[in-house]
Amino acid sequence: MTALHHEFVTAIPARLEDSVVYVSIVYATVAHKCACGCGQEVNLPLSPTDWSLIYDGETVSLSPSIGNWSLPCQSHYWIKNDKVVWAKAWSQKRIEQGRKADQRKKGKFFAARFKREQQD
Ligand SMILES: [Zn+2]
Repeated sequence: MTALHHEFVTAIPARLEDSVVYVSIVYATVAHKCACGCGQEVNLPLSPTDWSLIYDGETVSLSPSIGNWSLPCQSHYWIKNDKVVWAKAWSQKRIEQGRKADQRKKGKFFAARFKREQQD
């Protein structure tokens, strides 16, 4: 497990430091350098259909896991209580399935929201 620390910021800085998880509540974004050490920056949107942030007063956790499928390293891990918890690598097939499931989840969520707005 790799230790991280989090920083609450207004805007995500242009240059990210290693092992820091930047959290911007204002922009509903979390940014960090890929946990594998490849140096790539990873931006995660916080939304009901993307990532959720848990802050327990001392550490941050993110859900679901972070799968960097668009990066060459294809790393997959969780950020739990300011620590990197490695997850299993996904096959190309599993990645495709995950992407489709994400699309369905977003479709359902926005359809339900639209329906609610029509009723109000
Ligand atoms: Zn990486």
